[in-house]
Amino acid sequence: MSILVQCPSGLAGEIRGIKAKLFADRTLSKSGAVMDRLLQSCWLETIDPGVYDFTDEASPDWSKVLVGDRFYALLQIRRATFGDEYAFSVQCQSVGCRRRFEWELCLDDLPVRALSAEARATFQQGNRFEIVLPRSGRRAWFRLLTGAEEARAATLRRQERDDHLIDAVDLRIVEIEGVAEKDRRRFLEEMELADLTRLLDASDEVDCGVETGIEVECPRCGDVQDIELPFARGFFLPRARTRAMS
Ligand SMILES: [Zn+2]
Repeated sequence: MSILVQCPSGLAGEIRGIKAKLFADRTLSKSGAVMDRLLQSCWLETIDPGVYDFTDEASPDWSKVLVGDRFYALLQIRRATFGDEYAFSVQCQSVGCRRRFEWELCLDDLPVRALSAEARATFQQGNRFEIVLPRSGRRAWFRLLTGAEEARAATLRRQERDDHLIDAVDLRIVEIEGVAEKDRRRFLEEMELADLTRLLDASDEVDCGVETGIEVECPRCGDVQDIELPFARGFFLPRARTRAMS
């Protein structure tokens, strides 16, 4: 079945559900390229490119698309494939409990934050958002993350590096006033934590996308916990169907 979707930035198009042959390629599902393949093969047509200037509207360049739009589109592809309900297993975080339990939600209930008109304009003018760092007083410019940075972030994660916070800021930074690009990494390492977190907060404030923080309640101890929506392989290959195939 195909459905019409409008992503948080305004990008609109027609998508369809996933076909089985996509998962026949086992090397693909183990690599980070699976999301791009899903987007490429399930996005049928662009109806409104919104903030993007795709040269080929039938098959957009997903590396240029905002992470918030990409995730939204993937969520809709999942809905078109398996419907609205998403069940997964969670482990209770309470130290004395640790019960593993099933949780289910409707994907359509997740809140979506649209890209503001102001942020759309800034994105289209080169994706440079200006802020002033509170401690150093310097001006800095950050970008909203797109598929290209998401791919870089996945590479960094595979390296199991220690400095996640600096990596996260480094991916977003376009320029810091008075700091040459070659010196930027060292500058970030020496930066006050308040300036680093301000950069991340500022990008969260303007960015668009699906809110993936959810609340679950442990059936054994009754503890209510905030978790991130698990978005692993099971998201596109629900376990009941995996069992049915084996
Ligand atoms: Zn519990």
